[in-house]
Amino acid sequence: MGENSKIEWCDHTFNPWIGCQKVSPGCDHCYAEAMMDHRYKKVQWGAHGERKRTSEQNWKKPIQWNAQARTFRKENGRRPRVFCASLADVFDNQVDSSWRQDLFALIRKCSNLDWLVVTKRPENIEKMLPSDWRGGYSNVWLGTTAEDQTRFDFRWKRLKKVPAVIRFISYEPALGPVRLPSNGFWPDWLISGGESGAGARTLRPQWVRDVIADCRRFGVAPFHKQWGSYHNNPLVVEKGMTARDAREIDAEGKGGGLVDGKLVREFPDQV
Ligand code: SF4
Repeated sequence: MGENSKIEWCDHTFNPWIGCQKVSPGCDHCYAEAMMDHRYKKVQWGAHGERKRTSEQNWKKPIQWNAQARTFRKENGRRPRVFCASLADVFDNQVDSSWRQDLFALIRKCSNLDWLVVTKRPENIEKMLPSDWRGGYSNVWLGTTAEDQTRFDFRWKRLKKVPAVIRFISYEPALGPVRLPSNGFWPDWLISGGESGAGARTLRPQWVRDVIADCRRFGVAPFHKQWGSYHNNPLVVEKGMTARDAREIDAEGKGGGLVDGKLVREFPDQV
């Protein structure tokens, strides 16, 4: 709920509440549902399920991280990043709007932290933002998941209209090719990654190469997190190695993460 994160692109995760409803194929193997509903029976998932606010104690964790941010910055040369939320969606219609107001008040208060808010419901963002959002809080990066071209086209069209200091795409789990538009307006950052775990779906290495090439062409920072499974890793798929041999060469993330021998893990320029 509030913890130091193992996710490669952030330092902490914070969940203001838990519970959600599936909205697209990217949700089919929702980790949060598997853990919080099926395994621990903490929250019932779905339209008629619950949304449970996390404890007061949990809500105090970002305040501690904020207080420690100066030390973090000295040690790491950058601001700490918080992923919000991994077990819910901040722009979920079913959530009590007063909870979201409390969350944005916390975000404002924790100004030494960069908050990375990712949603699969960008169509809701504008109507759910706080009244003092204006050009976007300076410590909030807004992102939307796009698992395939259909979702990219729909969701980026909505996200790009919302003012924010950084706008980004989470192409994870990548379930089909995604290409960036050849003209118009581009995100600042794009994270890619394959699905992991039992029954993980296929990602083709060429999808990742193509979208990274688009990022290079249009000035978008690419971040390839992982292949998800060694069955997606190009060393196995294209070079014919066994998963065990591929792991010897590429042990980044789940299923390895090297793209043609290199890590591609860039971040957008901070404003
Ligand atoms: S939006 Fe995220 S948390 Fe909600 S069901 Fe989909 S994958 Fe799970």
